[in-house]
Amino acid sequence: MLNKWEGIILKSIPYGEANKIVTLYTREAGKMTAMARGAKKPASRLAAVTQTFTYGFYLLRTGRGMGTLEQGEPIDSMRHIREDLEATAYASYIVELIDRLTEDSGASPNVFGLLHDALHAINEQYDPEAISLFVEWKMLPVAGVHPVLHQCANCGATDGEFAFSFQEIGFLCHRCFAIDPYIVRITPTQLRLIRTFFTVPIQQVGSLNLKKATKQFMKKIVRTVYDEQVGVRLKSRSFLDQLERTPELLPKKEKPREEGD
Ligand SMILES: [Zn+2]
Repeated sequence: MLNKWEGIILKSIPYGEANKIVTLYTREAGKMTAMARGAKKPASRLAAVTQTFTYGFYLLRTGRGMGTLEQGEPIDSMRHIREDLEATAYASYIVELIDRLTEDSGASPNVFGLLHDALHAINEQYDPEAISLFVEWKMLPVAGVHPVLHQCANCGATDGEFAFSFQEIGFLCHRCFAIDPYIVRITPTQLRLIRTFFTVPIQQVGSLNLKKATKQFMKKIVRTVYDEQVGVRLKSRSFLDQLERTPELLPKKEKPREEGD
């Protein structure tokens, strides 16, 4: 069967002399793996459209076993992501996370939408660190973790002071602090931010300027949940951690150009 699907390349692995095995996340059919014959050769018409992060329409022949990628028509090559080291690092983390947390088992418009919005936002030069945090929070349910963030996870109260509990995976109100000795106290602003990250679609948040300390705090919570509940260890994470420890590795960014410049 020949299908034309809208998709994003999550992964592209050289195979043999001339081929690539690509993993795409499609809007219509979810995650797919396909052989792209000849795509390793620079002159191939599949060479550009099979690069990681490329968003396009893909013609796939499916049947028994691995599908074949016949054609690709790029919509967006995500040029900024490709050219900027920091953007590449965070986008790599996002595609690896989504690849690891999803199976080849049918469409998920939510996951496709999240992947698409996240890469688009990074490509439009929104803060890639904040965008990857959004993805981490929003992928928790896909990973089987459903944090309780709309009320106290123990008594259901919606008023009072709150803390985050890794034991309950969610918020605890001050009346219930005693049930978890390792709660992390949070301010009302941090509480709102966690809810925003979990519930509001990326494109509705707009330009969100977060302080480094805020991002570190949000990251610490979500990554502890992943480490304790999901147990995925991502290759791209160690590169990111290294980048964050040694920011001098990153080239100095020019000031953003004015509109119409
Ligand atoms: Zn409570």
